[in-house]
Amino acid sequence: FGVDTAAIRRAYLDYHRLHGHAVIARASLVPREDPTTLFTGSGMQPLLPYLLGAPHPAGDRLVDSQTCLRAEDIDEVGDTRHTTFFEMLGNWSLGAYFKAEQIERLFTFLVDHLRLDPSRLYATAFAGAPRWRIPRDDESASLWVRLFATKGIVTPPVEAGDAERAAATGIGDAHVLFYDESQCWWSRSGPPSTMPEGEPGGPDSEVFYEFPQVPHDPSFGAHCHPHCDCGRFIEIGNSVFMQYLRTSDGFVELPRRNVDFGAGLERLAMAVTDTADMFQTDLLRPLVDAVTDWSGSRHGARRAEPDWSITRMPGVPGEHDTLTAARVIADHARAVVFLAADGVVPSNTAQGYVMRRFARRAIRQGLSLGIESDLLAGLVPVVVDAYCGAYPELATAGPEIQTTLGQEEALFRRTLSRGVREFGRLTATGGLTGDAVFTLFDTFGFPPELSVEEAGRTGVGVDGAWRERFTARMAEQKQRSKTASAGLFKGGLADHSEATTRLHTATHLLYKALRLVLGEH
Ligand code: ATP
Ligand code: MG
Ligand code: MG
Ligand code: MG
Repeated sequence: FGVDTAAIRRAYLDYHRLHGHAVIARASLVPREDPTTLFTGSGMQPLLPYLLGAPHPAGDRLVDSQTCLRAEDIDEVGDTRHTTFFEMLGNWSLGAYFKAEQIERLFTFLVDHLRLDPSRLYATAFAGAPRWRIPRDDESASLWVRLFATKGIVTPPVEAGDAERAAATGIGDAHVLFYDESQCWWSRSGPPSTMPEGEPGGPDSEVFYEFPQVPHDPSFGAHCHPHCDCGRFIEIGNSVFMQYLRTSDGFVELPRRNVDFGAGLERLAMAVTDTADMFQTDLLRPLVDAVTDWSGSRHGARRAEPDWSITRMPGVPGEHDTLTAARVIADHARAVVFLAADGVVPSNTAQGYVMRRFARRAIRQGLSLGIESDLLAGLVPVVVDAYCGAYPELATAGPEIQTTLGQEEALFRRTLSRGVREFGRLTATGGLTGDAVFTLFDTFGFPPELSVEEAGRTGVGVDGAWRERFTARMAEQKQRSKTASAGLFKGGLADHSEATTRLHTATHLLYKALRLVLGEH
């Protein structure tokens, strides 16, 4: 497969077509019939009515590549494996097949077609919930064990309850691991104990790929295992088996069992090309390269090569390095181009607001790299180039998108220059304080580094404790917006609480739609 992500997309669709799946078109990033959610965040989201029982016109086996936007992952952008925009390859069985066919076909695709190294693959299965008499998902686990054995990998599954112990001691040779309901159970509200009567749920079986070149980072725990977040193991996909229904006194089997599988296309590209950094795969690298090139040339000399091994965002808000900035710009540029292609325009509400936020964040990050003009308009052709093969609508809309984003950038740059004037007023008496840095950032979109730079340039004194004060104000504001936005952005868009982030997955979305369908808003 070389380094061509487009070939992986094609292979996945073709492979499932050969196995009787109808290839369906991607849905818009803006959900057409779901006013409760701003964006399409998973492949299953547009298919909810069918998973809940409506007959799909294309049949009971479906496959697609769905463009997704997860604004709630914004704080993750900067690591090696999360972007706000990504493509999810998905296949569905609407009562047509279940665990055996799904897991076997998936394994064959990954190992025989994509030629992934089976010794670097890891699978998870649900450990069971004895309290609810929901059995351990031995069927999925033994399917995986048998499949690994066909490649000479002997791997008894790590027993229920042992996954944590294994994590504490290292996972040894295990390639099939049971995790409890916190990782391998699918339902709206998480664990079975919190599910209301009438809600469907079921076990989730995930697939991870290991990147041995990424050393385990002990700050994430003593030992590495698939659910460790250090970047050595990457989740490439998961199969949700819609199997149970919550009743008044427990769980019963659903009359029709569905499969919902989703895999990140860019994650697969990482695995296929053995690239531990998503931003170095072929769809994103041209963007990152353009940004670092412009950054270098506009500084008069090329900046030092960024350290690509950094896997996490630095903790201090507003602080960044070249690498993180380039990643954020690449991600946000791609997101705003696809949003524009789906008809969103920058504004102060709903989808337009998120788009504006992405655009401005990219421009601010660009400034920190010395890019002072034409960032977004300049990146449009790079995005179009990478995607017009799979999504010809981008090529058609390209020039118009460029105009829209160019105008938005010009508008924001005017706001920023007002910030420069305000800088003079705010620092006239007390020099540059943390409060001034915050006001400039919050009201004028003036990046903190820029304030400090401007102070240096104009000979204004800088309060030694500005950063602490600024950080405190940022944290305060984040808390405020969390509370204020709870009702406004039901998609969890401005709310980055852990609970929301965790819930705002396919699971969360499914439940929302379920409630819609059931009419119990
Ligand atoms: P992760 O645990 O890595 O955040 P997830 O469990 O939240 O992923 P799912 O809701 O299961 O993600 O989505 C299916 C697949 O989509 C994931 O297995 C992953 O390959 C991919 N994916 C999810 N979020 C992102 C993202 N922000 N950027 C790129 N790919 C993603
Ligand atoms: Mg996950
Ligand atoms: Mg998952
Ligand atoms: Mg996630």
